[in-house]
Amino acid sequence: MMQDDYRLADAKAMPIERVVELLAIGNLQRTGSELVGPCPSCGGRDRFGVNLRKGVFLCRRCDAKGGGIDLVMLTMGLDFKGALDWLCGPKQDISAEDRQARERKAEENKRRNEARAAKERAEAIKAARDIWLAGIEPEGTAVRVYLERRGFPLDLIPVLPKCLRFHPALAYTVRGETGWETIHRGPAMLAAVQGPDGMAAAVHRTWIDLGRPTGKARLIHPKTGEDLPAKKVIGSKKGGAIRLSGNSFTSETMVMGEGIETTLSAMVAGVYPGAMFWAGVDLGNMAGRRQIRGEGMKFKGIPDLDDDEAFLPPVCVKRLIYVMDGDSEPKMTRAKLEAGLRRAMVKRKGLRGQIAAAPRGLDLNDVLMGQIA
Ligand SMILES: [Zn+2]
Repeated sequence: MMQDDYRLADAKAMPIERVVELLAIGNLQRTGSELVGPCPSCGGRDRFGVNLRKGVFLCRRCDAKGGGIDLVMLTMGLDFKGALDWLCGPKQDISAEDRQARERKAEENKRRNEARAAKERAEAIKAARDIWLAGIEPEGTAVRVYLERRGFPLDLIPVLPKCLRFHPALAYTVRGETGWETIHRGPAMLAAVQGPDGMAAAVHRTWIDLGRPTGKARLIHPKTGEDLPAKKVIGSKKGGAIRLSGNSFTSETMVMGEGIETTLSAMVAGVYPGAMFWAGVDLGNMAGRRQIRGEGMKFKGIPDLDDDEAFLPPVCVKRLIYVMDGDSEPKMTRAKLEAGLRRAMVKRKGLRGQIAAAPRGLDLNDVLMGQIA
């Protein structure tokens, strides 16, 4: 039986960095604890990422994902058994003692990896907290002007959400050869990401440049020359949300978009009066893990119900509306949002889930900006 195969524990204990090395997957750039580059299956430039800390990989395009064995299957086009042979060599008869020693070693590795992940998570949350504490009240700062640029004039948002702050000179860092290097320092909008328990666990940052029409800073990697995202999250965002508005004592409806601007657009549109408006930070957090193995499964939107880290609304919520940006890849985005809603409906009895789509090719914020212009 496959479960009795001692090689399974060996393969699982192998750091994914080592698997990447063995497979000689080229052109992966290291940023923080991730390797980013072309997908070994479908190519591209930066759609494929390996999370070294968690030992998993993900392709944003073809949706391939998994651990080290899955990576061998994907890259070498092998089935599970073939991948195990490739990674660990053919199965040999080993003594009970050897087997126990291997199992002990695998268990030790697992414990060490978990301890390291917990330590890094605690450090990231502390770094997020320090950034938040260095922020100030956003009213009267570049945050107000930035939001106006994004299509939210004062009369639409007379009071800025409490989860927003302003940082006058926030460092933008990239991973260099010797550690983190600051490549930019400038004004930024901070948004607190609160975990399911209400504790702040991460900070979402938008670097602002009011000299540009979009209000967003343009950041370029000094070595590679590639455009870097003006928005980043530090800390632990899993299961969390940016709680932009609403009161869980009085609202039974929650509206959630991926980003701050999309969610604010839904809020000021006035279609859902009295609802809670929370941003889900990223699509993966809203969707959670999905069942994607099998014919056509990756577009079916079936949640992996074992994922207990993905976002779930508070128990008071009876209606959950996910806002779908029209500018994302529609089939895949819809499948992900459906998986998230289905998980929430299974885990929250009586909840109704629904997708509200912005018109094709536009995100909701574009629609709003078009209305105002
Ligand atoms: Zn791919």
